[in-house]
Amino acid sequence: MEHLQYIIVGAGPAGLQMAYFMERAGHRYSVLEAAPVPGAFFQTQPRHRMLLSLNKRFNGFPEQEFNMRHDWNSLLSEEGSPLFRDYSEDLYPKADDYVRYLADFAVQHQLRIRYNTRVASITRDAQGLFVISDADGNQWSCDRVIMGTGACAPFMPSDIDGIECAAGYEDHDIDPALYENKTVLIIGRGNSAFEVANHLAGRAAIIHVAIGNRPIQLAWETHFAGHVRSINNTMLEMFHVKALHGALGLCVRKLRRTDDGGYDVVAEEEVPHWREPGMLELQLHYDHVIRCTGFKYVTPELFGDELRPESCKKNKYPVLDSAWQSSVPELYYVGTSMGVRDKQAASSFIHGFRYNIRALFRLLEHRYHGKELPHTEYPLQSASDLEQLASALLERLSNTAALYQQFGVLCDVLVFEDGRCTVFHELPVAYVLEQARFSSHANIIVVNFEYGFKQYPQGTNPLSFITQSDEASSRRCAAFLHPAFRHYRNGQLVEEDNLGDSLTLRYSRHRVHNVMQTHEPMTDDVERNTVMNIINRASNTTSEVFSETVHLVNHAFRPWPKDRPLDTRGLPRCPISEPEAAE
Ligand SMILES: Cc1cc2nc3c(=O)[nH]c(=O)nc-3n(C[C@H](O)[C@H](O)[C@H](O)COP(=O)(O)OP(=O)(O)OC[C@H]3O[C@@H](n4cnc5c(N)ncnc54)[C@H](O)[C@@H]3O)c2cc1C
Repeated sequence: MEHLQYIIVGAGPAGLQMAYFMERAGHRYSVLEAAPVPGAFFQTQPRHRMLLSLNKRFNGFPEQEFNMRHDWNSLLSEEGSPLFRDYSEDLYPKADDYVRYLADFAVQHQLRIRYNTRVASITRDAQGLFVISDADGNQWSCDRVIMGTGACAPFMPSDIDGIECAAGYEDHDIDPALYENKTVLIIGRGNSAFEVANHLAGRAAIIHVAIGNRPIQLAWETHFAGHVRSINNTMLEMFHVKALHGALGLCVRKLRRTDDGGYDVVAEEEVPHWREPGMLELQLHYDHVIRCTGFKYVTPELFGDELRPESCKKNKYPVLDSAWQSSVPELYYVGTSMGVRDKQAASSFIHGFRYNIRALFRLLEHRYHGKELPHTEYPLQSASDLEQLASALLERLSNTAALYQQFGVLCDVLVFEDGRCTVFHELPVAYVLEQARFSSHANIIVVNFEYGFKQYPQGTNPLSFITQSDEASSRRCAAFLHPAFRHYRNGQLVEEDNLGDSLTLRYSRHRVHNVMQTHEPMTDDVERNTVMNIINRASNTTSEVFSETVHLVNHAFRPWPKDRPLDTRGLPRCPISEPEAAE
């Protein structure tokens, strides 16, 4: 039986990404893939063949890293190729182009993939090694297993009696003629449900999307790419401009096929907001019912009883720790499953999990191969050292795609000791706050990106954020994505600070771009000084305090005219008042 250090199960984007790093490190690994090609998931999904991951190819700034912020499909490589931008010009690309891209990525980087190899069981032998068997009885042993099996099976809600008789998102007939002038019930509240509704919106007579007992969430409201995307909003608009279709608070409880080939449906509608709160029970009938209730990301049937990883969330996801290890030691998960720990950034999507996978690879190198975590050392004994470090940090924050996509999930850590600062790159925030070397260290700053909408009153309309944040109030009023700095002493959070938000998320001299000349004020390096002060408060490098006073250099401020009534028109007022600027 061949023994390997790593076996990666699945050659989807996640498995390929991890295989790339294993190949570059020269590890003994193999990817076992059930299908004859990589990226097989995208050969059939999404059903209407358009990806939701943006392919924004022109971004005005030259740095490749910065441009990766807006390329949500390419996999990471030191060579920076292949890039998906060369496979499609569509902003919302075609799934078939992505299959082509993944195939070329696997070939170009000579990844060790065994196709047509469906893993049938994973056990452990007496020596504690994993033993992997495929459906044809072939066996391998290995030290560590990395599951990149993606969406393994449709998720069947257990609280709907007869759900099995509904058509499924994954294989329902998408020929719109079948639904012409018919009534259609779609069960679900995510992108798949609205993708199907959009596709049928012009042919079906009436479409009801049963979204359950709470309003749906739109990605532009929550800034989470997994919520309903605007490209899937047609049906919602039709609902609100009274075009018959509707997204309704129905909780479907029972489905029965009827002789006319349709469905009798029993649904509940919760009305806690009525003067007399209660539940309505509705008897409904539709010609078609389509289940769009998502997928499962666990395969308990593959594992021996003694080795079955714990799962959660209705057995949809594996339970994962801060290094994406399952409850079974040395069994890790990559890809969409990583989303179990992240319902804000992009861990469920290619543009997020590609960075999680790079971080995981580096943690594996550190944990099993004695490699130090990636870091950069800076001297920190003088004001000029401070300026060097702050400038380097601002350059990084102006370009990094990893911290940008994985806001609140991945961070850089500044560790201060003996007159120097060591910056560790792209570590999971949860891991840093758990690991003694960081969590009990005398003096660290954790730097990550985050949104600031939460400090505005609940329900503030995101579309009301149309102006710059109030300069007279505080950079702490930053609503859009911005860098946050948290200073910990011996694991205790002692200070939080941040830089303001910026349309391009580029700071200091990296901000310069002709369009930005007009919209974002050049502020003679107030941002560099702000970062120097933040670092200096932690490191006590110098007794100096650097000016943070904004001198507007490219736009003027005029007070509101006395004769014009003041009307804030629902523009969001920041509740936070300004601490004394350091002068
Ligand atoms: C409908 C839908 C649309 C999506 N659209 C997007 C999008 O537009 N952009 C985006 O970024 N994300 C999207 N996602 C989320 C996610 O990125 C994709 O699901 C992506 O496929 C995840 O990659 P993966 O490598 O984790 O899994 P997958 O791409 O699903 O790959 C898993 C691989 O494992 C193989 N496999 C499974 N079981 C076994 C086994 N026992 N033995 C051997 N091989 C096995 C499969 O054949 C498959 O090739 C979408 C998800 C869904 C459900």
